Amino acid sequence: MFNKLLIANRGEIACRVIRAAKGLGLETIAVYSEADAGALHVSQADQAIAIGPAPAERSYLDADKLIAAARQAGADAIHPGYGFLAENADFAQACGEHGIVFVGPPPAAIAAMGSKVEARRIMRKAGVPLVPGCHGTEQDEATLLAEAEKIGFPVMLKAALGGGGRGMREAQSAKDFGAALRAARREARAAFGSDEMLLEKRISRPRHVEIQVFCDHHGNAVHLFERDCSIQRRHQKVLEEAPAPGLDEKQRAALGQLAIAAARAVNYAGAGTVEFIMDEDGAFYFMEMNTRLQVEHPVTELVTGHDLVEWQLKVAAGEPLPATQEQLALRGHALEARLYAEDPDNGFLPATGRLNRLRFPEESAQVRVDAGVRQGDVITMHYDPMMAKLIVWDEDRARCLRRMSDALRQTEVDGVATNIGFLAAVVAHPAFRAADIDTGFIERHRAELLPDGDGGAGGDAGQPPLGKQEATAAPAPASPWEATDNWWLNLPEGVRLSLSDEAGGQAAGASRAAERQPGATRLLAPMPGRIIEITAVAGQQVKEGETLLILEAMKMEHAIAAPCAGVLETHRYAAGDIVAEQAELLIIRTPGP
Ligand code: ADP
Ligand code: ADP
Ligand code: MG
Repeated sequence: MFNKLLIANRGEIACRVIRAAKGLGLETIAVYSEADAGALHVSQADQAIAIGPAPAERSYLDADKLIAAARQAGADAIHPGYGFLAENADFAQACGEHGIVFVGPPPAAIAAMGSKVEARRIMRKAGVPLVPGCHGTEQDEATLLAEAEKIGFPVMLKAALGGGGRGMREAQSAKDFGAALRAARREARAAFGSDEMLLEKRISRPRHVEIQVFCDHHGNAVHLFERDCSIQRRHQKVLEEAPAPGLDEKQRAALGQLAIAAARAVNYAGAGTVEFIMDEDGAFYFMEMNTRLQVEHPVTELVTGHDLVEWQLKVAAGEPLPATQEQLALRGHALEARLYAEDPDNGFLPATGRLNRLRFPEESAQVRVDAGVRQGDVITMHYDPMMAKLIVWDEDRARCLRRMSDALRQTEVDGVATNIGFLAAVVAHPAFRAADIDTGFIERHRAELLPDGDGGAGGDAGQPPLGKQEATAAPAPASPWEATDNWWLNLPEGVRLSLSDEAGGQAAGASRAAERQPGATRLLAPMPGRIIEITAVAGQQVKEGETLLILEAMKMEHAIAAPCAGVLETHRYAAGDIVAEQAELLIIRTPGP
C-alpha cells in the first residue's frame, strides 16, 4: 500500500475518499482552489495544497498543477474522484510518467471507452448486445437517413464523443431527420470538437440499469450487482437504488457476466460501471462504460457491505480483489437521493448562498450522509451544486422508501434553495412506490411532483415557468446570474426557457424577456451569458416554440424558443458573443394586428 494519497477533487467525493484512505492508515493530501480555502474536504485532510483560482480550468482541471502538488507533497498516489480529471486518459498517463499511481483504470481503457463509436466496436466484438443502430458509417445526410430508415423511427442521433446528454437528438420521422441531425452536429462540434454521429433506435419507456464491476491486476474480475438509475431529469440521475426492482436472478447474473465481458474486453482494472438500457420487454442493451467511481456507488456499498473506495485503493496498490464472486451477496435494499442547491419551482435553476442552517438526519447503520458542506459554508457559482447525498438501507424496498422519506424530513437547509421537497415528492409518489419507473418518470408525473411550479406546462422537464424565471433574472445580491465568468462542473445541463408575451398566453410579466410591439416581438437575454449557437437563419419563417438560440450561463445551456410564429430578422449577435442581461437577441416579425 502507498503512504500518501492526494485527492484531486473537492466536495462530498473528496471527503468520501479521505475517509476511506484514513481507514487504511494513509496520509491524505487535499487540494483546493481559492474558492475552497475553507471547504470541508480541506479541513479533513492531513495536509492541503492551494492549486489556483476558482475556475476549475485553472485549478481542479489543471493536470500540471495537480501533478506538481503531488510531487511537492511526496504523494505516491492520486485519487481523481469523479468528474474533473477522472476520465482523462492523458492525466492518468501523466501520473504514471511521474511515478505516481493513478487510482483508476489504465489510460488505454479510459481512452477506449471515451468514444461511443470505439466502445461499440469493442462491445460488438465482445458479444455484448448493442441498441439496434449503426456507427462508423459515412457521415453524409443521405447515408445516415437511409440507415435511420433501416433502423426504423424514432431514432436517437448521438455524438461519437458525446457525454452529459449533449450532441444527442431524437428524430421522430424522416421529415424531421435533417433538422435533428443539423442540431445534434452543431451541438457536438461546439462541445466536443467533432460532429461524428451514430444512430440508435429510440427505446420506448427505457430503464437505466447499470452494473458495478471491479477488476484487479491479477486477472480477477467480479461484478457487484446492479443499480437502477431510471429516475432522471434531463438525462441526469436524481435517485438511484439497488437492487433494480423486478430484476430476477437470471437476468442479474446474465447482466453481470456481460458487464465483466465488457470490462475484460478493454483490459480493465479498478472500479467501473457498465450502463445498460432496458426496454419494455426486459431486453438489455449496452449504452456506455464509465471508467471511474460513480456518484451513486454508496447504494452498492450498503447492499453488499463492501467499501468500494477501499477496494479501489487496494487494487491500485496491486493487491488482489478483496472478495470473489461467490463471496459477494445482495442484502436488503438501498436508495440514494442527490441533494442539490437548486430551485425546482424555478426550472431547477441552481442556487447559491450561505447555508445559514444545515441539519442532516443522524447517521446509523441504516442512514448514511455523504456531505461536502457544513453549516455556514457558502455555495458558490463555480462548481456543481450537489451538496450531499442521503443514502438509506432497509430490509425491503417499501421500508427503504419510508426510511428515505424520514431522512428527507429530518434534513433542514436554510439560506439556499434545495430540491429536498422535490425528492420527497418523488419518493412518496404512488408510481415510484409501485416501482413503475422509467427515464420518463419525472416528465410524466411533473404535475404532481411540482404542484406549485410549472406542473401542467409539459415539455421539457427543465422548463421553468416563465413568471418565476423573471424572479431569477431580477438582480439579487447573491444571484449567480449576475456574473459572466462563472464555471460549472457538470457538462452543460440544458434549461429550456420558453419566452412568451401576453399574446402567447403563457404568463404575465413576460415583457422583460420578450417585448411585443405592433408587428414585432423582441427577444431579450434573460441573463448575462454567451451565445453558443444561433439555430435559426435570418429571414426564416419560425414556428411558435421553435428553438432559435442557445445561451450559456454557468455552463448551463438555455434554449431560447420563439414565443410566436413569424419571420426572423437579421441577428445582431453571432455565436461566441457575450451578451448582457436584457440585450436584444432577436426580433420576430409578425403579421400586424
Ligand atoms: P454518474 O452516473 O456518476 O452520476 P455523471 O455523468 O452524472 O455520472 O457524472 C458524474 C460527475 O462527473 C458529476 O458530478 C458530473 O458533474 C461530472 N461530470 C460528468 N461529465 C463531466 C465532464 N465532461 N466534465 C466535467 N465533469 C463531468
Ligand atoms: P451520455 O454519454 O450523454 O450520458 P448515454 O448514451 O449514456 O449518453 O445516454 C444518456 C441517457 O439518455 C440514458 O440514461 C437514457 O436515459 C437516454 N438514452 C440514451 N440512449 C437512448 C436510446 N437509444 N433510447 C432511449 N433513451 C436513450
Ligand atoms: Mg451515460
